[in-house]
Amino acid sequence: MDLSEEDLLSAIARVLSGAGPEVVVGVGDDAAVVAPGAGQLVLTTDAMVEGTHFSLATTSARDLGHKAIVVNVSDIAAMAASPRFALCALTLSDSVDAAWTIELLGGMREACNEYALWLVGGNLAAGPQVSVAVTVTGEVAPGRAVKRSGARPGDRIVVTGSLGGSAAGLRVAHRGGPLKEGDRPLLEAHFRPVARVGEAAVLSQNEATAMIDVSDGLSLDLSRVCVAAGVGARIRMADIPVAAGATLEEALGGGEDYELLATLPDAEAVTRASVEIKQSFGVALTDIGEIVEGAAVIVTDGASERALEPTGWDHFAAPS
Ligand SMILES: [Mg+2]
Repeated sequence: MDLSEEDLLSAIARVLSGAGPEVVVGVGDDAAVVAPGAGQLVLTTDAMVEGTHFSLATTSARDLGHKAIVVNVSDIAAMAASPRFALCALTLSDSVDAAWTIELLGGMREACNEYALWLVGGNLAAGPQVSVAVTVTGEVAPGRAVKRSGARPGDRIVVTGSLGGSAAGLRVAHRGGPLKEGDRPLLEAHFRPVARVGEAAVLSQNEATAMIDVSDGLSLDLSRVCVAAGVGARIRMADIPVAAGATLEEALGGGEDYELLATLPDAEAVTRASVEIKQSFGVALTDIGEIVEGAAVIVTDGASERALEPTGWDHFAAPS
């Protein structure tokens, strides 16, 4: 590292300067002090580790900082809560310098501005690999958090936006070479994912019975809802909103799309929510199937149906 820790901390404090009325003591003291909100406190944490979640060769510091905040905000959104505060614990290796670190914090600041939350503190450590661990707190009106376990037989299953774009974007990044037509939105999907905070609020207002953000692929995340609720699901293959340029396999098993998967009590709720989400955010809401009794997650193509394995598309694609 080409700066002392003290110099780096003061540079970071400048990047993160500015605090809202709820921040009583922000970056720079032993701990942050914030005013409690009126609702229930929602907490989540997620770490992005070099070599496992990203590569320094393909990921910019700014995108990494932005994404480290967004993936946590997405989990807050999936509870139908609003993000409030963030903390980050950075481990920096010899492969990065002070400019890289300030860019990383700049990306975090950008995401915090976008989603109206405050980065109130953090920690720096040296280590063999870069790791960006972020904690985000949120707030929800008492009893209004939407859990995974609320899905009931007869509920419609809906998903926001499109799926598979992030996995396809990673494939494009690994391929390298000049960009082809249609590559850019896929790279955006991977490196600049969007947390569906406003969309989650609309789904909650329309009586969403369960909600999860699609971080590990539709197959696995839908199976998590089914296991939590003790129900099964039937989805229609033709209605899965596969991102342009992505494959069905990437949509089902790719992960990191950070779209919302929710269950709604009836078709009228789906119509109301989809109109509102389209009007407010320009984002599609697609009905892909329904919750059923039992435990199996079935995918149908009209003529036949098969079990959708929670590990992804490979099992489904294998000839039986
Ligand atoms: Mg999640």
